[in-house]
Amino acid sequence: MLKTGKEHLEGLRDGRTVFIGKEKVDDVTTHPAFKNAAQTVADLYDIKHDPEHRDTMSFEEDGERYSMWFLRAKSQDDLRQRTQAHKKIADLSCGLFGRSPDHVSSFVTGMSTNPSAFDSEENKFGDNLMNYYEHMRKNDIFATYAVLPPQAARNPEFYESQNLPVPTLRVVREDDDGVVMSGMKMLATSAVFCDEIWVGNLLPLAPNQLKESITCAIPCNAEGLSLWMRQPISLNAANEFDSPLTWKYDETDVLVLCDEVKVPWEKIFVMDDTVRSRGVYTETPGHCYGNHQSNVRFWSKMQLILGLCSKVAQASGANEIPVVRETIGRMAALEATLAGMIHGQIEAAEEWPAGYKTYNRRMMYAALNWCTESHSQIVDVLRELCGGGVFQMPASVDIMHDAELKADFEKYFQTPQLAALDRMKLFRLAWDFVGSEFAGRQQQYEKFYAGASFIVRSHSHREADWDFFDGIVDNIMADYDVPEPV
Ligand SMILES: Cc1cc2nc3c(=O)[nH]c(=O)nc-3n(C[C@H](O)[C@H](O)[C@H](O)COP(=O)(O)OP(=O)(O)OC[C@H]3O[C@@H](n4cnc5c(N)ncnc54)[C@H](O)[C@@H]3O)c2cc1C
Repeated sequence: MLKTGKEHLEGLRDGRTVFIGKEKVDDVTTHPAFKNAAQTVADLYDIKHDPEHRDTMSFEEDGERYSMWFLRAKSQDDLRQRTQAHKKIADLSCGLFGRSPDHVSSFVTGMSTNPSAFDSEENKFGDNLMNYYEHMRKNDIFATYAVLPPQAARNPEFYESQNLPVPTLRVVREDDDGVVMSGMKMLATSAVFCDEIWVGNLLPLAPNQLKESITCAIPCNAEGLSLWMRQPISLNAANEFDSPLTWKYDETDVLVLCDEVKVPWEKIFVMDDTVRSRGVYTETPGHCYGNHQSNVRFWSKMQLILGLCSKVAQASGANEIPVVRETIGRMAALEATLAGMIHGQIEAAEEWPAGYKTYNRRMMYAALNWCTESHSQIVDVLRELCGGGVFQMPASVDIMHDAELKADFEKYFQTPQLAALDRMKLFRLAWDFVGSEFAGRQQQYEKFYAGASFIVRSHSHREADWDFFDGIVDNIMADYDVPEPV
């Protein structure tokens, strides 16, 4: 089934507990902090029903239509189709929605190509994973994940020595019909707009953290679950003209707090297994599928950045200056570099697991690292190109509703390149990208969405064929020895 945007929004009115400070939000689809972004999510659902995009965005299997991100790739063409769908979704928010509906669903789809990774001697959870995959694709589920413990709460000894509950989410009880868990996870982007949250662990756990190894799916309205919103950014936007990105692309981030949340056995994928709780991401294509989506999403953002660099330089006429052209040319090269890294993952696809194709993992992790470490510098180039023009503009576009101010504005703020209002519109957009609170949150997201940089690089270290690289050095050195004395 392919949900419509309207159906998805109706599903969000399910009694979920969302707090903004002490305020409990009644309806995330109408609350001023969320409603515009909720509509953006609805638009992502509706694009699948547009006849022009239907075949890019969905596929048919056994007479049923599913969103393209549920396609398990058996060929390079399948991988290509997945990539195209990610690109279409990412283009709709210019890459500003990180956890769009194709992110976590790609993790689960990748995992479903190797469900044996969920089976251990003690627990056979592979079937649960497959049933969850079926449930997700049949109901066109939008899930996010919470796979990191809260910051600075990773040391259980501190809490135990003070007789305090350890704040990290863990199983506190097992009942006949499932487990009960309490504690926190940080963070869950988009959770307020999601149907469900995948709970797990992307960081390694110590052997004694057995109860934290719980990996499961919970509905966003689960009893005992509350979502604690960070400061909503969208409330800073008075109107779309003055803050066009803040207005509709605050995808939100919440702290996930569970107070005795019940998880039925069939929604549990790992428990009491610290090694497997992390292994399920990398011993299946889950992490690779999901982060390929992140690569593609960043590509859309890179295209917006390149467009902004070009338009901002044109607005001041700086685009005619050779050194500025060189700067923009370098940005164009960077955009094409990322495009190449994305296409390369398909051209060098891996035959893995048996019967399936997966994006080239080393190239995917290289792109992930490139995006994480380059974002700030790339945005800084745009910031420099903007100069002080972003602050030259009046505080609000409402000056257009005052005849005298409007006349002055149009007379004095125009430039040889642009009419005053066009210039203001462009610089408002550029500022929302480089300098607003929305921009600050984007910067933090790009640094941390896949874990801190040392985690991102550890994936590249793990996947590299060290025998091969060490062998090159060994081969050279094998060709010579201590020379005869001269
Ligand atoms: C906007 C945003 C959205 C997010 N969305 C999600 C989400 O949807 N789901 C989810 O599960 N998580 C999400 N996260 C959480 C994110 O995964 C974590 O913030 C990230 O993994 C970093 O962990 P941390 O914040 O605990 O930082 P820490 O691990 O405490 O790191 C803080 C700093 O210390 C450095 N550091 C810490 N330990 C080491 C070490 N051993 N070696 C070297 N350097 C070290 C790090 O490099 C970093 O600079 C999100 C985070 C942000 C900022």
